[in-house]
Amino acid sequence: MADRYLGFTGTAPGRFLTRRLGLPQPAALRRWSPVTPELDGPVLRLTAGEAPPPAAPGGTAPAAVVLDATGIADPAGLRAVRASLHPLVRTLAASGRVVVLGARPDGADVHQAAAQQALEGFVRSLGKEIGRGRTVQLVRLAPGADAGSTLDFLLSPRSAYVSGQVIEVGPEVGGPGAGEAGVDAAPGAGAAGDAEGAARAGTGAAGTRTALVTGAARGIGAEVAATLARDGAHVICLDVPQAAEALAVTAARVGGTALTVDITAPDAAERIAAAVPGGLDVLVHNAGITRDRKLANMTAEGWDTVIEVNLASVLRVTDHLLKAGAVRPHGRIVGTASIAGIAGNVGQTNYAASKAGVIGFVRALAADSGVRGRGITVNAVAPGFIETKMTAAVPLFIREAGRRMNSLGQGGLPQDVAETVSWLAAPGSGGVTGQVVRVCGQSLLGA
Ligand code: NAD
Repeated sequence: MADRYLGFTGTAPGRFLTRRLGLPQPAALRRWSPVTPELDGPVLRLTAGEAPPPAAPGGTAPAAVVLDATGIADPAGLRAVRASLHPLVRTLAASGRVVVLGARPDGADVHQAAAQQALEGFVRSLGKEIGRGRTVQLVRLAPGADAGSTLDFLLSPRSAYVSGQVIEVGPEVGGPGAGEAGVDAAPGAGAAGDAEGAARAGTGAAGTRTALVTGAARGIGAEVAATLARDGAHVICLDVPQAAEALAVTAARVGGTALTVDITAPDAAERIAAAVPGGLDVLVHNAGITRDRKLANMTAEGWDTVIEVNLASVLRVTDHLLKAGAVRPHGRIVGTASIAGIAGNVGQTNYAASKAGVIGFVRALAADSGVRGRGITVNAVAPGFIETKMTAAVPLFIREAGRRMNSLGQGGLPQDVAETVSWLAAPGSGGVTGQVVRVCGQSLLGA
């Protein structure tokens, strides 16, 4: 169901009335479209302590600021962060971006660790107060980090509903040529380096990447399929046989292939592997279900079904594909968690357990030396309130609370989750692994 309140606050009388009544005033977010692929206005790059250039009268407001705070190693250094950003908070454009670059808190240097951790509190607070559809993130850079694709994403309209996140970026896992360094490429997989180079160059042609998205018939999964296809992948769209009709529509829309498989079927992993003889570059575990009941009323069946679809099948399918060499070198695995898996939610012990399990899976698999050695990254998105059929069915008042209880004052769109998946799945995101990125407008739940 459309967010009518957001439409109303976008009108002059709506703005006037909501301001007078002290009601939330969510800003219409600037999202990616073929006609608005970039933010309007310059990106300022400053080192903490550096003053921004004075705003020229009538000039274009900055669309983003990237503040390098990696060198801050004690509490006194934090003053420089305030000094650089204080003048910009008022001038940064609507739907603008603040990205603070930090360093990993260093276990050996207590003062550095304190100062770098302080940046997290700073960023999360600024995200909550900055308003006007603007977002704030902390990107922690490890030595040798390759943060290009991450900054491209965060400084674009594609990250419209991602705010208050702390994202760690390291050097590309596996290093260049990991695929050739004695790792088992799937038969017929070809030279990963060529495919990657072509995809980076945006050529698509010889290097078209193959992606598989589960639960692609509708909702978030259908949008993930469309976004990966936009970004050059051939997408295999998977869903249950009962959804075959809608699945065929998605597959046709994205120029992909439909694959009807129930991921909980005992032979699901084998059937998926058989459908991708050349191997997969991108594996997106999106299929998920809810069977909400408080624990006191939850049947064993309601528990098992959710754990089976959301978690157990994810583990089984991934294990099998990795063992079969069906995830190609430099592959990308993206799981779908939820803010419920971080914060917990009434009536969702089964769902939240399954989604927290996805987070555990992602972190452990990302750290696996065999997976890293092959240059494979493993991450998760954790959506908040996303406008889908699932959330349209939520009772009105709970739905309104879900929509407004975040820093951007509105629900996200399936497109917002899809853009985040596509960034994590990009060839250039080899330095991003083991991350759980919330797509929740900085939801107050588990914030
Ligand atoms: P949805 O119900 O609209 O779509 C889920 C799709 O998964 C459906 O097409 C369904 O047929 C498919 N599916 C279910 N069981 C399957 C199985 N056994 N095998 C293959 N396919 C199966 O849901 P959505 O809102 O688009 O959510 C997508 C994902 O995002 C889910 O994992 C969900 O838990 C997660 N999520 C959604 C929200 C939200 O606000 N919508 C919030 C947090 C997390």
